[in-house]
Amino acid sequence: MYETTILIAGAGPTGLTMAIELARRQIPFRLIDAGAAPFEGSRGKGIQPRTLEIFDDLGVIAPILTVGALYPKFQIHVGPFSLRAGSLGSCKRPSESVPYPNLWMVPQSRTEAILRARLAELGGDVEFGTALARFTQDERSVEATLSTGELVRADFLAGCDGGHSTVRKALDLRLEGESIDEKPTLVADVEIEGLDLREWHLWPFAKGGFAGLCPLPHTGLFQLTSKAAAVPAEIAGHRVGRVAWSSVYRPSVRMVDRFRVGRVFLAGDAAHVHPPSGGQGLNTGIQDAYNLGWKLAHAVRGGVGSLLDTYQAERLPVAAAVLGLSKRLLKTRSIKRGDATNQLALHYRSSPLSSGIALGSLHPGDRMPDARLEDGSRLFDHLRGTHASELVTPDGHRILIRPDGYIAQIGLAQTADYWGEPVRQIRPSYRVAVSGARSFR
Ligand SMILES: Cc1cc2nc3c(=O)[nH]c(=O)nc-3n(C[C@H](O)[C@H](O)[C@H](O)COP(=O)(O)OP(=O)(O)OC[C@H]3O[C@@H](n4cnc5c(N)ncnc54)[C@H](O)[C@@H]3O)c2cc1C
Repeated sequence: MYETTILIAGAGPTGLTMAIELARRQIPFRLIDAGAAPFEGSRGKGIQPRTLEIFDDLGVIAPILTVGALYPKFQIHVGPFSLRAGSLGSCKRPSESVPYPNLWMVPQSRTEAILRARLAELGGDVEFGTALARFTQDERSVEATLSTGELVRADFLAGCDGGHSTVRKALDLRLEGESIDEKPTLVADVEIEGLDLREWHLWPFAKGGFAGLCPLPHTGLFQLTSKAAAVPAEIAGHRVGRVAWSSVYRPSVRMVDRFRVGRVFLAGDAAHVHPPSGGQGLNTGIQDAYNLGWKLAHAVRGGVGSLLDTYQAERLPVAAAVLGLSKRLLKTRSIKRGDATNQLALHYRSSPLSSGIALGSLHPGDRMPDARLEDGSRLFDHLRGTHASELVTPDGHRILIRPDGYIAQIGLAQTADYWGEPVRQIRPSYRVAVSGARSFR
């Protein structure tokens, strides 16, 4: 019997984020994936501003920015006519409080490769070709059987194993919700001859139904979405060349009603399945893992179990809200996104971890905004890492910021330790401006 502290089933974006969070806290874990090799497709390509901030904290923002691009404008083709329309994403300048204001496109396989490389830097790796087959649990541990026949005993199991989750099924939890469209949608990464790679081409009335070709940055490929049964030889007169990857999915909106059963947790698509509209699925999974990682680390170090209860209390309402948004966007076929999808305003205000009173625009439970400090550094530079932070303003207000960047408390006394993570003090000696009207002294 192999003994570990945390077994992570699934090395998609959710499982990889979880592993990085544990690795950078020196918590032993095993990360297994049923796939024989890394996932190759572009699938979840839209990275939201809040996830970019998390990537900044995890130490992967530079390669993510290098391999990605802003979303292109739409070019809508109807018969002989072509109309230019807006873009799914914005093109804003960074502000003091929002360093990454725009939706950023990176093919999912590249995001995963960057997360794997970061995990390797931290000494971790993915065991491919190793599926979780089944498990049992009691008050002390989880015992898992892997597809290799190996038995593993762990303190906790994190089910990050996607929409068809073995973990979820074994817990007998159902994904409740609905399919938005019973007809499957084809998604594929393809080369197209003679088509402008700077625009997202849409044919609302293509032969066989709707077809879209979104250029994937720095790849020479387009992501095809279509109602066709298979990748066609040509799309609206443009010959399809190499097909690098293809798959089908049924857009649906579903989630479980529990994210935790005893020592077993669900995160990402294992707990909530999103339609691609609004680009929320991958982002919500990464944020689940970012929420759970430091809490699992605390529990493994012998901390009290009540912290683990806050995972579901915080993330389940967020998943429900995000699913409602994705469904509305899909049903209205809206291409206008505004700030609704950037996930910066998602908060944990009603969490048991949030206390104190609002200070100006700062509210316990909200994401702590970035700010420029007098020495030229950014507040986020000081938050980066696994520690918690205490911001002490020149006139004595204290703001405790969690390891995952949310405001835990406003107005409480100094503390050296936050759930086992050290607290670093930040004492700007002048008024800190947080973009526009936001400021605190
Ligand atoms: C066309 C399309 C476009 C999308 N666009 C966006 C977008 O723009 N933005 C966005 O945020 N999201 C988008 N999504 C959604 C996004 O792809 C998913 O939400 C995301 O992949 C979920 O990540 P995950 O790690 O939770 O699960 P997955 O990526 O599904 O990873 C699960 C992993 O678990 C492994 N696994 C499965 N069973 C087992 C087992 N028994 N044991 C061990 N390992 C196992 C699998 O091999 C896989 O590697 C899109 C999806 C589609 C289909």
